[in-house]
Parts: sequence; C-alpha cells; structure tokens
Amino acid sequence: MTTAPPRTNRGKIQAALLDWAGTTMDFGCMAPAVVFVKVFERAGVPISMDEARVPMGAHKRVHIQKITQIDAVKKRWEAKHGRPPDDQDVSRMFAEFVPFQLECLSDYSELIPGTLEVVNALRARGIKIGSTTGYLREMMEINLRDAKKQGYEPDSTVCASDVPAGRPYPYMCLQNVINLQVSPVHACVKIDDTIPGIEEGLNAGMWTIGLAVSGNEVGLSLKGWNALPDSEKRVRRERAYQRLRTSGPHYVVDTIADMLPCFDEIETRLARGEKP
Ligand SMILES: [Mg+2]
Repeated sequence: MTTAPPRTNRGKIQAALLDWAGTTMDFGCMAPAVVFVKVFERAGVPISMDEARVPMGAHKRVHIQKITQIDAVKKRWEAKHGRPPDDQDVSRMFAEFVPFQLECLSDYSELIPGTLEVVNALRARGIKIGSTTGYLREMMEINLRDAKKQGYEPDSTVCASDVPAGRPYPYMCLQNVINLQVSPVHACVKIDDTIPGIEEGLNAGMWTIGLAVSGNEVGLSLKGWNALPDSEKRVRRERAYQRLRTSGPHYVVDTIADMLPCFDEIETRLARGEKP
C-alpha cells in the first residue's frame, strides 16, 4: 500500500510571484494609464486618468473593452458616434495601443525603491522569484531589458499573452509554478497593486499581498506622491487600502519595500499548518 504525500506544507515559502507595473517598476503604474487616455482621445471620446485606471491589471485588450463598458464612457461614446462602442472599436483601439505603449514603456521603467533589496533578501531565504503581467510579451521584452540593466532579473516571467486568459484567472501564476518547479501552490505568495492581480493569486490558491501606495490605487508617480502634503497622503493611502481589501488579500502594505514582515508571518502560519 502506498501513502499519499502530505497535502499541507509546513515548510518554507518557495516562490514570490511579483507583478510588474506598480509593484517592481513604474511607481504609480503610469505607463499604461497615459496610453489608454491617448487612445480614447484619438477615438474622439476623451477619458479621465481615473476612468483609464478602473480595469488595471487585465490583459490590455480586455482593459480597453472594460473601459468602453463604463457607463459614463459608453454614454459619451454614444453622444459622439451615435451608437455604442463595439468589438471592432475595441480591436482598432487595441491595435493603436500596442505601438504607443511600446514607444513609451522605457520612459516609465525605473525600479520602485526597495525592489532590489527585497528580491535579494528573498533569494537569500531560498525563495524563487516569478512574475506575472497584463503586458504582452513584446512589451515585456522592453521591461525585462530595462529591469536587467538596473539589476533585477526574475527567474520566470509570464505575460497575459502567454496563457489562455489573463487576470483574474490563475493561469499566469500557475505557469510560474511550472516554470519554477515549486510545489504546493500554497507555498507561493502573489504580490500585486491591483484587484485583478490579487484575485489572480487567490484563484491560484496562493497567499497574496496588496501594494497600496506604489501602484494603480494611488496612481501617482514617486515624485507626485512625495510632493503631497501628509494630510493628503493619509487620505489617499487609506482609500487605497480600503479598495484593495475588498478583493480579500491576506495583507496590504504600502510598497514592495514593506513586505518582508508578511513573509515572516506567512511562514509562521505555514508552520502551524495553515493554508491561504
Ligand atoms: Mg501592476
């Protein structure tokens, strides 16, 4: 008679799966937001930065489609074009989006402070570094090159265009599990600045950490954030924490620089036999 292997993992965390924009690079997740604004302006239906950010984290074509489904945008589209936006409009805007995004990615590819230190600390603990992104593979080639120049090189990178569906589906996380050869899934932690990105990790059966200040929820560059008065920082930070918590992450912290204590706590919980 054979004995099945134990189904709980009381061991260490094996992999950290990091998002890209707003998590490890591009503080404020600015690069996609500015291009969505540009593409809708060219379609004759200008949108605000807030509207551009609503579906952040999704595959970029899905993202454009979701913007067209925002009530206010749909109404403005109908007023301008005399009919609701359709799938062809989405395809046309996506076709425009791709080269504009490729063109400006490098303007926003600076690593978020703390990324290198935290990645090195995780590696010193034997944790592998994977990554997932709503960007397409050709966009990631640029980000990977720019990240490497700054000293960041994850062991695995999976793009929305590499799997059957992007976030909130778990496929990118699960492809990282295969690429990194780690097991079980509850020995993995997914880190992200958006709600679909947290859902992606939860759907994969992983621990999740939301990043409130460096990403889409505050939506300001590092310079813009630093320039805010403390009172305004408190308001924006609180709002971002509340929004991210609606998706049910295990932890929310300000930025990647603050997340190591969560890893200590998750390992304590794993040692107790807990699962995400
Ligand atoms: Mg992100």
